Amino acid sequence: MKLFNCSLCNHIVFFENTACESCGASLGFIPDELKMHAFASEQEQSFTSEQADSKISWRYCANHQHNACNWLINDDSSTGLCLACELNRYIPNLGNEDDHEGWRELEFAKHRLVYSLLRLGLPIHSKQTRPKKGIAFDFIDTEKAIPAGAAQMTGHSQGQITVTLDEADPAKREEYLGAMNERYRRLLGHLRHEIGHYYWDLLIAPDQQQLQSFRTLFGDEQLNYSEALNNHYNQGSPPNWRQHYISAYATSHPWEDWAETWAHYLHIMDMLETAYSVGLSTAPPTPAHQPFLTCQISTDPYLETDINALLQTTATLSIALNSLNRSMGLQDLYPFILTDTVKEKIGYIHRLLHPAS
Ligand SMILES: [Zn+2]
Ligand SMILES: [Zn+2]
Ligand SMILES: [Zn+2]
Repeated sequence: MKLFNCSLCNHIVFFENTACESCGASLGFIPDELKMHAFASEQEQSFTSEQADSKISWRYCANHQHNACNWLINDDSSTGLCLACELNRYIPNLGNEDDHEGWRELEFAKHRLVYSLLRLGLPIHSKQTRPKKGIAFDFIDTEKAIPAGAAQMTGHSQGQITVTLDEADPAKREEYLGAMNERYRRLLGHLRHEIGHYYWDLLIAPDQQQLQSFRTLFGDEQLNYSEALNNHYNQGSPPNWRQHYISAYATSHPWEDWAETWAHYLHIMDMLETAYSVGLSTAPPTPAHQPFLTCQISTDPYLETDINALLQTTATLSIALNSLNRSMGLQDLYPFILTDTVKEKIGYIHRLLHPAS
């Protein structure tokens, strides 16, 4: 994620900020331009931008009133919702304080997800406009009545993505992560994983050539899915899974390997964009360490066609980031090992999204 500046006072502002901490101006994110707008007066919550010969009026997405969104929409929007919020089908009852808070957490993660999709130039359509090939999110409280047609578990089916509010509850999530041996899973990771299944359906399934390339790297997805998942939960992963997979869960079925690798690719791109945005570079004073620990991120990763350059920077950066976390008594920020097979899978996704590379 990049850093933003208040367009009135130039103070640094962050993606989720609704007001500038320096001058107090209200802030709104313009998804079409990927930039933050500061409103000139706190009372005024709409503005008109002039581009070439057209004038566009902007106002807040309707979910701004629930403190769940700071994106702006064109004044002529028929739904009153921004590109990210339009993707929701069901949200929890906001009269319940815990559900409201959990939903806000989900929205913050989902808005970051949509930002990445925009940066990658991926198509984003809601099921309201494309019922068969669009995306819809259900954010479900499993302790309440499940809405009609909704699933009860986090998952994906034909563009319908369900995330249960348990995922936003730190205590329940830790319990679940321990039980499922998925200690790295977080909200943003869940969303990145599930949307990966959607883009597989959209980009790989209909294209025979892509399907062949996919099968060479990830295996044959025609393998019985529910049997494969049952086997995984009953028998666990093979002991040497790290050689070929980014996570233990990725071993369960080629579709899950794809979704795990896709999520990881989005993690890397976001991490590198953040590092690029803050001008992070590493250059240790001890000469013996220099070849391994020196990196300077001089290119926006979303514009970089060479995946090897991105992966090399990730490896160097992760040594520094993990060491910093250990200094604070925390777990490693980036506890992953990218073997050649895993790098090949990540490279395949990068080339798919950057056809010129
Ligand atoms: Zn300001
Ligand atoms: Zn919104
Ligand atoms: Zn999955």
